[in-house]
Amino acid sequence: MIRDVNKRGRSRRLKKVRVAVRVPGGGIVYHYRHKRHSQARCARCGRPLNATPTGPRSIMGKLSKSQRRPNRPYGGYLCPECLRELMLARAIEEGMALLASR
Ligand SMILES: [Zn+2]
Repeated sequence: MIRDVNKRGRSRRLKKVRVAVRVPGGGIVYHYRHKRHSQARCARCGRPLNATPTGPRSIMGKLSKSQRRPNRPYGGYLCPECLRELMLARAIEEGMALLASR
């Protein structure tokens, strides 16, 4: 039975998810469906990112760059809260360095 399932190749199983479907005759056949794409997440806190659609390359390729991620520094990589904290920390660091050099 396992041999029947695997006969069309290993790559197909890795790329697609198998779904059991009951056919009118009463038997069960396995249909292969595309795996769902996971949502983009913040690299620092792991929260889902806003305005970052996901999908197959055939669809994502048709979107413009501005439609794929927010147009700001670290857009599509960090969430706005993490970016704000990071920028504040950098600015404070820079101010401290300026004070120390005087
Ligand atoms: Zn974050």
